[in-house]
Amino acid sequence: MPGPEFTQWQKSAGKIATLDPLIQLACKDHIARCALEGIYVMVTEARRDSAYQATLYAKGRDAAGKVVDRSKVVTNAPPGWSVHEFGFAYDLAIDGVSEEGKVYGLSAQDSLIDAKVTWPNPTGKGLALWRRVVARGEAVGMQSGSTFPGLADWPHFQWLDGLKVSDLRAGKRPVNPPGWGGGEEFPLDKDPPK
Ligand SMILES: [Zn+2]
Repeated sequence: MPGPEFTQWQKSAGKIATLDPLIQLACKDHIARCALEGIYVMVTEARRDSAYQATLYAKGRDAAGKVVDRSKVVTNAPPGWSVHEFGFAYDLAIDGVSEEGKVYGLSAQDSLIDAKVTWPNPTGKGLALWRRVVARGEAVGMQSGSTFPGLADWPHFQWLDGLKVSDLRAGKRPVNPPGWGGGEEFPLDKDPPK
């Protein structure tokens, strides 16, 4: 019977399947690595269509796109400009945490996690947990949204293989999987350069 570290990603299988194949494995690996540490995460957002991105972009903004309520803003990307629309980004939520042999969930009465854990700026215990989720994401080569200037986006992970969103819009796509360092090629029968 496989442990939760191998099965946790299956809760998000439908969302993961919408991602570009290049990042699906990294996403599953990311979820499994978190579960190995007793942090159970789920994918809340994967590929989006433009209509949905427009709905998200409208939050906290007026019809002209001007910010009217900063606390309601969830994205700085207008429709057509989100990495989610190209299938190269996913967002996570912390689904549960194991401690002392018991799993505590977000919805559980005895939750260990404060309500601010998922969005936008985690605090307290939530921050410590998110730091570990970010570290595991970076370990599989994903870029964390927590580093975004202006709107730190802790649940967000993306892979662009050195491209920009404007490149994606121009039809270019990542060709290397997450974690690819680029640079010199090396013969396949030799170890990669250290
Ligand atoms: Zn996102």
